[in-house]
Formats: sequence, C-alpha cells, structure tokens
Amino acid sequence: MSQPAMRPPIESGCPDGFQYMHPVMRRNFGMWRYHTHPRPGVLLHVSDTGEGIWTVKAGTQRILDVFTLRKLCDIGDEFADGYVRFTIRSNIEYMVDAEEKVEPLINALEEAGFIVGGTRNSVSMISHTQGWLHCDIPGTDASGVVKAMMDELIDEFRTCNMPNRVHITTSCCQINCGGQGDIAINVQHTKPPKINHDLVANVCERPSVVARCPVAAIRPALVNGKPSLEVDEKKCICCGACYPPCPPMQINDAEHTKFAIWVGGNHSNARGKPTFQKLVASGIPNNPPRWPEATSIVKRILKVYQEDGQDWERINDWIERIGWPAFFEKTGLPFTRYHIENWRGARNTLNASTHIRF
Ligand code: SF4
Ligand code: SF4
Repeated sequence: MSQPAMRPPIESGCPDGFQYMHPVMRRNFGMWRYHTHPRPGVLLHVSDTGEGIWTVKAGTQRILDVFTLRKLCDIGDEFADGYVRFTIRSNIEYMVDAEEKVEPLINALEEAGFIVGGTRNSVSMISHTQGWLHCDIPGTDASGVVKAMMDELIDEFRTCNMPNRVHITTSCCQINCGGQGDIAINVQHTKPPKINHDLVANVCERPSVVARCPVAAIRPALVNGKPSLEVDEKKCICCGACYPPCPPMQINDAEHTKFAIWVGGNHSNARGKPTFQKLVASGIPNNPPRWPEATSIVKRILKVYQEDGQDWERINDWIERIGWPAFFEKTGLPFTRYHIENWRGARNTLNASTHIRF
C-alpha cells in the first residue's frame, strides 16, 4: 500500500526577497568582487562577470505617508530601474545598471526635497524607534528627536567627513528598542512610578506586574480597601518596566523624564571586538519640539571625534586610543559620580525577582 502523500508545509513569514531584487543583483548573487564609493550617497558594486550596479541612497523618515511613498516610487519608475529597498535605518535605496542613470536620479531626488547621502564615513540616518506614533510606552517623541537632530546633522549626512561611519540610535523608553550605537540618545527616568490606585485593580494583572520588576521592588498591597500595588522606592531603579503591563504605574513625566547620551557601542567586529556603549551625559532635559540641549551635546561629541579621530577609527576605537579621561576633557562634558558603575545590589535584588537566577 502506497504511503499517503505528505501535506506540503505551509510557508509563512516574509516572501522570498529574490523576486523583488534588481535583475543585475539576481544574476550576480554570490559573485560580487568589490565595491567602490564614487561619491557620497552612491555605491558601485562590481561582480566577477564584469557587471556593475550603482546604488543611490536617500534619507527618508521611518514612518512614511502614502503620498511621499508614491512620490518615491514614481522617481524609482522614471529615473531608476523600478527597484527600491529600504535600509535598516529607514533610508531608501535605488539600484541602476548604468552610470549615466545616476546623476538624473540624484537630481530628481534632490528636486523633490530628499537628501542623498548616508554612505561610508558619513553620519548615517538616526535609527528611529516608534514613539507616540506606534507604541504605548514612550517617554518622548522619537520621530521629533530624529527630525530635530537630523535637521542639524544634514551636512554630515550628505558628506563623508567623519573618520569612519557614525551610527546614532534613539530609544523613547528606557527598556526596549534602541540599541548599541556610536552615539545613543536614550530616555532616562529619574523618579519611581506614581501609582493611580483607583485604576490598578481594573487594568493590571498584578502578578505579572510584580514579576516584571527586575529588582523586586513591587509588592501587592491593599489601598483604601482595593487591591493595588506598592513600590519600595529605595530599591526602584526607575527603569519603567512596570509601566507597559500596568499603565496606572505612571512613570513618564514632563519634568523627571530626561535624556541620557551613551557613546562607543559597536556591533561590528571588523577591526576589533564589538563593544558596549557607555554613559557620558545624563539628566538632559527632554525638551520638545527641537531638543536643543541633547542636540548640542551630540554635535559637540561629533565635532571632537571628527577633529581628533584617525582614519577608520569608529568612536569606540577613538576613545580606546585616547582613554576616557581624555574623552571627557576634549568634549568638555562633566564627569560625575553617576558615570561610575558602583551598583552592588545584584545579589540582593536581581536574585529576588521571579525570573533572574544566578
Ligand atoms: S523604545 Fe520603548 S517606547 Fe520607544 S518604540 Fe521602543 S518599546 Fe516603544
Ligand atoms: S519595574 Fe522598574 S520602575 Fe517599576 S518599580 Fe521596578 S525598578 Fe521601579
């Protein structure tokens, strides 16, 4: 008796990317010999077969309205070969198979108000967390911070004047996305959450909120005869992790939610080991709509790095060469006791939470 036919697997997830790739890329997959950088914002990849493909990168916002998207696609249809892709830092890239198509494409993009750049040793687009547009826990407006800073860094995006490329990241809460960056602008809460006891019983699953705290600072409590929660403020590290599962644990605050700036994070292991970023400025006002204080610190760090960094040094390489005391001296940023990692509470607090054991 023959075996019954097996049911084919149901494929789900992202569609196969090959169908959307430029034909030159498809034909030369796995055969790229080298690439060059003819001008800021343009890369040329050449394959073993001799075929070349020019990539033109333009800065775009992460969350695009349909009209801008249509405009970008129309430019792609008219001036490129009808293929686009978006980078992880939310920029658009067009691919063309002939050098003479590059200049008209750049002109069309610039006439439509887009900035071409972001390649090689430039300041690339700030990686953009979602903020109030799409997330329920931000302490600031990520889109606004990215826009305000990139407005001031536009010349560093369209030129290649840094020692190496600079990745800037944002994070609009203190616990979730964002990531290692040469420079990271992260939210910093400075006060424990304020609990709205009238809402806790209706909105929050108290055991999951208790379990969420990394330092076991939250306990169930009866307040005015109603089930609620209480926070041991001496233990609380103001991380904000209790706020997503329990919005009545309000931690966002116009005055006490600040920014901190971290530098030297690097995922790459091209020339040295990957490194963690380190805090260099804290307590910076979260000051919409232009965030001038945070922007001026970022610009100050970039200026010193540009003048003092050697060719191909990323920010972490540069700091490793000159040392942290020299970094603070050259940038003029104050070094305070808050920069010293002196927390000794791990055995007593992390070990007491329900999900970390060591
Ligand atoms: S950083 Fe936090 S608030 Fe911002 S989008 Fe990510 S999870 Fe949401
Ligand atoms: S989760 Fe974070 S903010 Fe909330 S009580 Fe615990 S330490 Fe404090």
